[in-house]
Amino acid sequence: MQATGADDPTGEALVLTSAAPGRRHKLVAFAIVPALLAALFVLTRPFAEIQLPPAPAFVPIQTSALFVINLVTALLFFCQYWILRSRPLLVVANGYLYAALVLIPYLLAFPGLFVTGGTLVGGLQSTAWLYILRHCGLAASLVAFALISRGEWRRPQQVKGDVPLVLSVVATCALVMVIATVCIAADGHLPVVASDGRRFSTGWLIYAGAPMASLYGLAVILLWPLRNTVLGLWLLVVASVHLAAVPISFFGSPSRFSVSWYTVVIINLVANSLVLAVLLVEVSNLYRRLLEAVRAQQHEREARLATGDALAAMIAHELRQPLLAIVMRAATSVRRLDRPAPDVEKAIADLGKITADGHRAGAILDSIRANFRRDIRTRASMDLNQVASETVALVRRDLRKQQVRVQMALNARPADVAGDRTQIQQVLLNLISNAAEATAGSPAPRLLTITSENGEGNEICVSVCDNGAGVSAEHLAQLFNPLFTTKATGMGMGLSICRSIVEAHGGRIWASPNSPNGAVFQFTLARLANA
Ligand code: ADP
Repeated sequence: MQATGADDPTGEALVLTSAAPGRRHKLVAFAIVPALLAALFVLTRPFAEIQLPPAPAFVPIQTSALFVINLVTALLFFCQYWILRSRPLLVVANGYLYAALVLIPYLLAFPGLFVTGGTLVGGLQSTAWLYILRHCGLAASLVAFALISRGEWRRPQQVKGDVPLVLSVVATCALVMVIATVCIAADGHLPVVASDGRRFSTGWLIYAGAPMASLYGLAVILLWPLRNTVLGLWLLVVASVHLAAVPISFFGSPSRFSVSWYTVVIINLVANSLVLAVLLVEVSNLYRRLLEAVRAQQHEREARLATGDALAAMIAHELRQPLLAIVMRAATSVRRLDRPAPDVEKAIADLGKITADGHRAGAILDSIRANFRRDIRTRASMDLNQVASETVALVRRDLRKQQVRVQMALNARPADVAGDRTQIQQVLLNLISNAAEATAGSPAPRLLTITSENGEGNEICVSVCDNGAGVSAEHLAQLFNPLFTTKATGMGMGLSICRSIVEAHGGRIWASPNSPNGAVFQFTLARLANA
């Protein structure tokens, strides 16, 4: 599996020059390509010298195809260079640009193509020399790529500004013009490599075979250590394929339009298309990895925002009850004092309750903070029955207003557990206020029963039952999920908070339908060993 941008902190997998080739790359490069070449070699060897009729359209079509392939390859390399500012990329981009541009004078000077029995420009030697120099230039760029890449391993250098890019393109175009001019204008003075429009002379072996074999051979040797990068591997394949094509060009007496000539032309076309295909696939792969990295980042951000939302909802949800109580009690105290005969005693009692509510709000904030800091808060031992009674006392007035009758059936045995009193109180408060809300639409008597009984093993089980609307089977599985609510103004945080508190205390919480109607919410906590 290749690394995605998301799990590659250095971003190496997103860089063409350092991305590692996958198994499929290696299989094609080291097995399929050599096997195809060997098959081609064996199959064409016996028929190498057979002359096939020259197809007039073949040369312009294959040269134009090669021109477009080389030009697009060069363009892709230039784009990669523009992003990465790596010198080896600039060199190889210019190599492919050179290989593309030389094809223009090569085509114009091809014998018999534009002028029957002659050439449009230059002479017999021009085409052959342009062919030789095209290959030598491309091979030299591969050698330079390998040499500079090895230097960059030791001391990576980034090219700054666009001047080197512009200068290199100008230099390549100038070189092509010089070579084209020399090959065309000095045709008569060039060493003889072509005997006529078809056949090559013995000079072909010396002037074409020797330099091409040495340069591509050198490129193969120098590129071998770079085979562990996608780019290094495929340039190595290109150099090897061109090197393998050299002996095929010299089978028997080499001539154009022979089986071996067509073979070499096809090998050339395939070798050049191979790099373009790999580049396109790799660039698309890099784009995919980049997209994955961006999506992973987006998810992370959304998750962080959701956590922030959940935290805000949790704080709002938990503080709403004590704050509402403070506001209501303060309003009552104002009314008690704002009379001709103020009831100071009751007002003082209210103010005492307001202070207690304020402290409770502070304790809730502390317990939320502790939850997020994942603190192990000092757990005190407490009697769960007592906590339940205290909690009911806190909301009894509200329940009465909502016409909800509370019944308590607490276990006679003290239910001693270890835990955070405020948090357990929060659980009970949430369950009670949910139960009261669930009975809101039901006809009287609206009933809420709180029981505590022995559970499995040494567990104590607390239940809050109501005869309200009940929970549909469809919603039962989602009740405890954060932000799940069926209420128009609900936050969907209460039960999720209850679950995290109970589970943090080593207990379990669940809901089930009540009979004949309503719902039962139950949670268990472990009894203290000596209780
Ligand atoms: P909220 O009360 O803000 O909706 P909760 O997490 O406390 O958030 O509750 C989630 C949902 O569980 C409620 O919207 C309601 O549909 C359902 N629910 C909770 N308690 C009861 C109950 N006693 N009876 C019926 N449904 C309940």
